[in-house]
Amino acid sequence: MGIFAKIAAGEIPSYKCAENDEFYAFLDINPLVKGHTLVIPRREVDYIFDMEDDELARFEVFAKKVAVAIKAAFPCVKVGQAVLGLEVPHAHIHLIPMQSEKDMNFANPKLGLPAEEMQEIADKIYQEFSK
Ligand code: AMP
Repeated sequence: MGIFAKIAAGEIPSYKCAENDEFYAFLDINPLVKGHTLVIPRREVDYIFDMEDDELARFEVFAKKVAVAIKAAFPCVKVGQAVLGLEVPHAHIHLIPMQSEKDMNFANPKLGLPAEEMQEIADKIYQEFSK
């Protein structure tokens, strides 16, 4: 099993932001901004565009609900969405609260946030998602 599948299965710790039977959302460990979240399918698939249409549609609808929760927890202009997948071979959507387009630059230095703050951020998003 790959690292993200293990995270979704609870075998590797993560800062959980949202979940349902099929999908899981957690904080990116090297966030570009506070609230930078990854959304993944629980099942192992590398390339997002290898997903079947129905699954991809459900994935995007789940990501939308997570984005709404992020925006409520961390007021921003919009939540940006990006798919790279160059580092971890398990489909994932980056959701990033944006104040400007600069926040979507993956070449920016990453925030090094203490574990306590990461947990607070994840809890805030989880509470909004659960409303
Ligand atoms: P990419 O595959 O290019 O979209 O990049 C993978 C992303 O996953 C990067 O932003 C990493 O910071 C993030 N990442 C890698 N390992 C973990 C982990 N164990 N927990 C949370 N985020 C991770």
